[in-house]
Amino acid sequence: MDRTRSRSHPYNPENRKVKQMSAPLIACPGCHLKLSDRGLGLDERYHAVRECVELYEELTAYNIMKQDLFFIHQLAVDAYAAQHVGGNMKNITAVFALVGLYLFNEYGYTGRQVQLAHMQLARNRIEWPALAPPEHPWAMNVQDVLAAPEGDERDERLKQWSASVWANWRHQHDWIRSICREHRLVTD
Ligand SMILES: [Zn+2]
Repeated sequence: MDRTRSRSHPYNPENRKVKQMSAPLIACPGCHLKLSDRGLGLDERYHAVRECVELYEELTAYNIMKQDLFFIHQLAVDAYAAQHVGGNMKNITAVFALVGLYLFNEYGYTGRQVQLAHMQLARNRIEWPALAPPEHPWAMNVQDVLAAPEGDERDERLKQWSASVWANWRHQHDWIRSICREHRLVTD
């Protein structure tokens, strides 16, 4: 028997183990998710590696296909942006993401209502300040949402993700509340 050949057999579990351990990982600078490094580089819009943005694009394609009246896609837009603040991200994108998270999680706005609130706020053409992202670790990320089976379970996971991202931004809650009141996006 040829021992050399036996050791390099592709079905040898020891070989698989070595291969897995040597696969390089890359941490997303925004959500800190560790993903297989395919050398795609940083995204132009989010403070994220492209490997992470591809997961978001997968979730986007799934949500858009639903064509739901609630417009659940908006929840993913805001949760993802709020988890990837910094780098190339525009200040307005970060602020609008937090406004969306606030209106959904504390006022029960639908994704469609959040979208209308964003349009109303955009008319003011304000120079928004840069926001420092939370220092606490994130409880969930886009991969957790994609891991849920399609349908109600995934929608529920998406809402949990939205709630966890909003909770982690607690250092800006009061400021976001005041913006929403000032611009009459909420009634009280
Ligand atoms: Zn990420």
